[in-house]
Parts: sequence; structure tokens; C-alpha cells
Amino acid sequence: SQNKRHSNNSVKSTCSYCGVGCGVVVTDLGDGKLALEGDKDHPSSKGMLCSKGMNLHYTVMDKSDRLMYPEMRFNRGMPLQRVSWDNALERTAAIFKTFIEKYGPDSVGFYVSGQCLTEEYYVINKLIKGFIGSNNIDTNSRLCMSSAVVGYKLTLGEDSVPVCYDDIELADCFFVTGANPAWCHPIIWRRVEAHKQANPDVKIIVVDPRKTQTASQADLHLQINPGTDITLYNAIGRILIEREWIDNEFIENHTNGFEAYKEIVFQRSVREAARICGVRETDIRWAAEYIRWSKGFLSMWTMGLNQSVVGVNKNIALIDLHLITGKIGKEGNGPFSLTGQPNAMGGREVGGLANMLPAHRDLLNPEHRNEVEVFWGGTKISDKSGFTATEMFDALADGRMKAIWIVCTNPLVSLPDIKRVEKGLENARFVVVQDISRRSDTLAYADVVLPAAGWLEKEGTMTNSERRITYLPKMLDAPGEALPDTEIINRFAEKMGFGEFFNYNSSSEVYDEHSKSTKGTNIDITALNYEILKEKRSVQWPFKRNNADFGTKRLFEDNQFFTADKRAKIHAIPDSNHSEELDADFPLILTTGRIRDQWHTMTKTGKVNKLNQHIDQPYLEIHPKDADSRKISEGQVVDVITRRGEARVKAKITTDIKQGVCFMPMHFGKILGSDFGRTNNLTNSLVDPRSKEPDFKFSAVEVKAHEKP
Ligand code: SF4
Repeated sequence: SQNKRHSNNSVKSTCSYCGVGCGVVVTDLGDGKLALEGDKDHPSSKGMLCSKGMNLHYTVMDKSDRLMYPEMRFNRGMPLQRVSWDNALERTAAIFKTFIEKYGPDSVGFYVSGQCLTEEYYVINKLIKGFIGSNNIDTNSRLCMSSAVVGYKLTLGEDSVPVCYDDIELADCFFVTGANPAWCHPIIWRRVEAHKQANPDVKIIVVDPRKTQTASQADLHLQINPGTDITLYNAIGRILIEREWIDNEFIENHTNGFEAYKEIVFQRSVREAARICGVRETDIRWAAEYIRWSKGFLSMWTMGLNQSVVGVNKNIALIDLHLITGKIGKEGNGPFSLTGQPNAMGGREVGGLANMLPAHRDLLNPEHRNEVEVFWGGTKISDKSGFTATEMFDALADGRMKAIWIVCTNPLVSLPDIKRVEKGLENARFVVVQDISRRSDTLAYADVVLPAAGWLEKEGTMTNSERRITYLPKMLDAPGEALPDTEIINRFAEKMGFGEFFNYNSSSEVYDEHSKSTKGTNIDITALNYEILKEKRSVQWPFKRNNADFGTKRLFEDNQFFTADKRAKIHAIPDSNHSEELDADFPLILTTGRIRDQWHTMTKTGKVNKLNQHIDQPYLEIHPKDADSRKISEGQVVDVITRRGEARVKAKITTDIKQGVCFMPMHFGKILGSDFGRTNNLTNSLVDPRSKEPDFKFSAVEVKAHEKP
């Protein structure tokens, strides 16, 4: 069997869950059994793994849910039937061609995932933008990091994470905001914990409306009201300026915009800011003090900032603190967005989003479009941004889009305001789902199902949160007739008549084309290929052969930013929030997030018994005072009601959450055929106007004890 062929073989790979990108060693024990341990030589994780990573091999060994063969539904409402690859791809190509001819290229689109490998992202992006002629490709990374992308661009001139994980051990002040890394990026957090243990003077500030596991380890927990982050950062900025704890030389020589910033942060007193944020004024002053005394100031954030209707502004207001203190481009200093998904960064690098082009080129820039057109040799690239994640499903609902191809993601659980997504999929004329698992709720709407190879069953690369590109080898053959995603797209491109441009013999050839496309850009990896990646295991971009051996650890050490005049931009950010209004009918704020042992929509982690033992069902965290006033007791079933939909879950009464705020985990879809525990029944469809990232962290809700009918 395929497994016996690899018996006693070990390979080094990278965990396919979060953006930390921990190294793993997988050993094939034969008879379909695998063993897995942390890779002690991996520079990001140094042998450590969290509960999810430790159990990753079980998801590969258990093939009970795997999609093995292409399937087709000949009519809506009919069951899926097994067909050949040729059949499935020919029908798909025929339908795509018909729609494109009749309604134009923007009638079709791809919705992909931060779990796709870089090569997969590259070929899908090339196919839709360079050959079909539409920019309708977006990704679930839109739900994750797009606010950080815009924030970096507007301040540093480029979507560029300036720091590396080794800065953790060089920092002495951690500002963790809108993130719970102890649960969601555990190995990063273990490095912070170990550093603090060895150096008790290290300070940890956590900003979060919830008392999370991370907050419980903080020197200072600023338990702010949801949506008041900018007020807090601006207040800290004001104190730093007032007390002259800023770096005037850095501001003068390497930034623009300070005067306007100063003006706006002085519009609100620290006392007033404290009242708005719902924290003590002295605590805000302590935060400024900790930052002032630090030699290394590292801010870490994820969805609490990004998933907001003012997500870009939150990112910028935070980065402003680094720019006014000059705490960037130096060891142990800088803003550090922690990516949620394993290859959200790789997807950005190949430009696999509705408004981007390869190597962070800008779709709206005619020169950039021209460069890519010449490079690909295909059709003219449209100058119109494609539909973003939420827009795509709205476009399906109202008929602007006819067909969608969903790769490696489960939007029926993960997108906000799920009834709109259901409407989109119901109205879609044609839905293709390309995935590894039958557990995806989205399969219910598929006209064509394409079985994909999973982790260890294909080779490729991913980029983690610190710009580290890692090679992932193939170890096992995929079950049944499942194929690597790159091969599926190449075969489809051939059926569409673009075969000569997708005639790759290996993933390595795709990678070579991708690396060539980075020539002349800030993420230059033209000198990189599989041979080097296999030898070195991983490198950080930009990577030039005559540069440091393992690429670039840290950006902006020369204070030269990626803006036209090389100066970083400090922005004056107003602190207004534009989330859904609360009122007497919907007086509570619902915020959502992850739990420790589950990953996204649980199609993988949900099949591991050990992981389900931690928390096995959805729940609502509510403050005792809010529970009392509603006569809700611990463990009681409650109805969570919004202007859009409802959910029914058990109440967990806790002082870990602020009064007036509730929390639900985002992972759960249909349980036993019911969608009662699906959090995204409740979330709203507001998005940040620039990043188009949804406002998952702020929905107006009411909670009532459930009355049995
Ligand atoms: Fe995997 Fe993230 Fe856990 Fe590391 S921290 S083992 S990458 S889930």
C-alpha cells in the first residue's frame, strides 16, 4: 500500500492550523498509522506544539469523512452522484464558458482560503484575473487580516510585518490587544510566558473586554468596552506626548503627519477616554509608563482589531504608538499582527484577493496591471476590483454573479449574517465545492464536488506570521481519486482552453513562476526556489541570495519605509465607532471568537475526540448582572436574538466578561441537523469600508431564557 511504501519514513512539515506555523516531524508507522512530534530545529516553534497541532495526524489518519471521488448533482434536490474527473471538469468548464459568454467574466468567481498553499493561490489567481478576465477571487483571509493589510499599507507603505518571533525574547513590554494568543496562537504565547518567567521585569499589557487566559497572565488588563480601542490608543498617545516620552528625532526624520496626530489626540482628555473605554484613568497612565520604560515594545493583535467596521483605523491608531515612540525597526520592537490562518500571508503575496495583484501589486495601478499582463501573457486584467468575501454571496443572491467555486473553506459557518450567505447559495446558478471533507456544511449546496488532496498528500509552501516561507513535502498519496488543488485548477484551465499557460509539471514550476513575479517588488524572492527551501527548511522574505542566509528577519532597520518618500505615515485617527446600534430591544453587545481546542469550522479538529473534550458545544458567556436581570441561571438554555436571526445555546455565567457584553465561540455549524448553535446567525453584515472585513466583534443582541413551546 502507499503507506507501506513510506514505512519508517519521517518528514518535516508545518502545522496547517494557525499562522504561528509550527514545525512538525511526522513519521509513517505503516498500516495507515502516523506519529507526530514538534520539530526541535524549527526556528518558529523550537519543538513546541499546542493541543491542535499535537493531534493533527489523527485528522489525516481518519479518512471516514474524506471526499474520494468527483461528484455531481444533476438537479437541485437530487443526491450527488460519482462521476469521472473529466466529466466533472468538462461540465464545470462548459457552464463557466456559457455564463462568461452570456453575462461577462464577472458572472463567475472563486472563494478560496488562507489554508490553501501559495502555489494553489497562485494558479487560481492567475486563471481568474489573467485568463478569465475577472477579479472575482476573494478568500476567507478577508475575514481575518485584511484590516491589518490596509493598516500596514497606509502607515508603512506596504503590507509588511516588520518583526520576527525572535523579537519576543528581545522585548520587555508586550501590548496584546484584541487577541487571546494563549488559546489562539499558543506557541507564540508560550515563548512570551517563558521569557516573562526568566525576566520578571517584563511587562504584559492585555486589552480585551474579556478576562481571557491571556489576560489572566497580564501585569495590566485594560478591560475596555468593545469598540473603544482607538480611544484608548489615542489616550496613550496623548500621555506619551504630554510627558515627552516620544522620539522627536525619529518623528522628525522618518515620519510625516505628527502635528495632525497631536491635534486629534489632544481633543479628548485621558479622564474622558477612561470613561468611554470603561477602565481606570490610572491604568491607561500605567500602560503609557510601561511603554515609555521599555527597550522592546512589541504589540500583538488579531481579530479584536481586524474584525471591525473601523478595523483599519484601529490598526493605524495602534501602529501610530510605535511611530511616535520610534519603537519599530529595532530589535524587540514593532507592530506584530498575528495571522489567523496558516497561509494568509502566502495568499497576500501572490495577490489572491479581489483588489490585489501578485507580489503585493495594486490592482488599481495601471502600471502594475500592465506588468502582470505581460508576465502572464493572457488577457487584459480588468481595472475593476472583484467582489470581496461578503459581496460575492450578495452578488449571487441578486444575480450579478451566477457561479461560484469554493475552495477549502466553509462559508456556511464562517461568514457573518449567515442567512444572506444561504440566500446567495440558494440563488446561485452553479456551485462548485473543492474540499477534502464531507463535514463541510457548504456541500449541501454543491452542484459539483471536487475531492482535494490534504495536508501531507501534496507539496507546496506556506508563509507564517513572521514572513517565514516553509516548504511542505508530500508524504502520502491522497485517498481515492483526490488530487492536489493545483492539479485540479490546471486541468480545469486546460478544459477552458488555457492549457498552454497552466502546463506545469510540478508545484516547483509554479513556485518558480511566482518567485519570478516578485522581481522589483518589496517582497523580492526571485533568488528562492524549492531546492533552497528544502535545504534551509524555511526563509523569511525578502530573500536575496547575496543577502543574509535565511532572508530578512526584521524590516526597516535602516528607517527606510516602503512609502514613496521612505517616511512612515502617522495618521490622525478619529475614535468614533460605527458598529450596529444598541437599543432597548437589543441592548447587549455580542462578540465572537475561538476556543482553545477547535479550529475554524471544526471540519478537522471536530473529528478528534481529545479536542472535543475541552468544550463540546456552543455556549453564551454572560455577566452575572445581565443574567440576573433576565432570570437566567447557569447552564440554562437561552435564546440569543438579533435583528437578523437567532441562536439557542446554554448560558455560561461569568465575571470574566464585562457587563453589557456577551461572547459566543464562532466554530459551530449545524449540530444534529440544527443550526441553533451557529453564531453567525447573529452577526451583522457591516464591513470596514476600506478593508471590507466584517464587524464580527460587535452585534446588538438580546438574550432571553428559552421557553419550551
Ligand atoms: Fe499549529 Fe498554531 Fe498550535 Fe503551532 S500554535 S501547533 S501552528 S495550531
